[in-house]
Amino acid sequence: MADQVDIIVSEVGPRDGLQSVARIMPTAVKARWIAALAGAGLREIEVGSFVSSKRLPQMADTGEIVAASVRIPGLLVQALVPNRKGAERAIAAGTHKLTIPVSASRAHSAANVGMSPEDAIDHVREICRLRASLPARLGIEATVATAFGCTMEGPVAEDWVMRIARILAEAGVDSVGLADTTGYANPAQVKRMFTRLRREVGEFSGGAHFHNTRGQGLANVVAALDAGVTTFDSSQGGLGGCPYAPGATGNIVTEDLVFLLESMGLRTGIDIERLIAARALIAEGLPGEPLYGQVAEAGLPKGFVPASRRPAA
Ligand code: ZN
Repeated sequence: MADQVDIIVSEVGPRDGLQSVARIMPTAVKARWIAALAGAGLREIEVGSFVSSKRLPQMADTGEIVAASVRIPGLLVQALVPNRKGAERAIAAGTHKLTIPVSASRAHSAANVGMSPEDAIDHVREICRLRASLPARLGIEATVATAFGCTMEGPVAEDWVMRIARILAEAGVDSVGLADTTGYANPAQVKRMFTRLRREVGEFSGGAHFHNTRGQGLANVVAALDAGVTTFDSSQGGLGGCPYAPGATGNIVTEDLVFLLESMGLRTGIDIERLIAARALIAEGLPGEPLYGQVAEAGLPKGFVPASRRPAA
């Protein structure tokens, strides 16, 4: 596998995927699944979230999962935290990088994290201050959730999304991403929003998080590539959704995303065959759970050579 990558594929299945499945994947299988994903070449994995285990019992073992994952060489271990308390738990567990969602939709923010976007921003500020007091390096990405529309509020104003992004960049995070939490985005909107994000926050412009709820996921990826985005979240087997955004099922499928990028000549460093093989761990941990993905279904085209395996130019 090439050491150099053009695009970072950030796996969110163990967090975004599993939180939307009612059944709980056993901790030991979850740890093996994450190890298999890392073995396939994924360099960033969001392994869980530090939220109330009463609200999301699927995430109750995130501390243990982080502790197991940080032992995997070369893997950047991420966890979602909704507030300062979650950040403290994540730091204590040894998490490398925090993802903090700030929902642009007031209704979604109230349902998802029980506070207003302004209060969520205050938590981001506090977490950035907390980081300044830490001895070890900690990454912080903030993500504007429901940035492309909301199942509860409908359209979300682009100016408001950009204002949140600016405030988050000023708060001291490393990067600000945009998430289509509800699967509402279309490619024209994606290209416009990420182009604008780069104009508004420059080097702090972060990754894209798309759901395939209405089948626009990979088209949105291509639009975001056109706007210069280099990090994409996805979930193995298309597990995912949001328990507080009704109808928002299915992250874009990691296997299909990797195929798209590699076939376009963009190196991900991921071995697609090993990646597809890792689906077996989901089947083991959640027997009968539906898995999505066209590439795993159809197989690789005859003679396919992924960009990561082509000789360097
Ligand atoms: Zn999501």
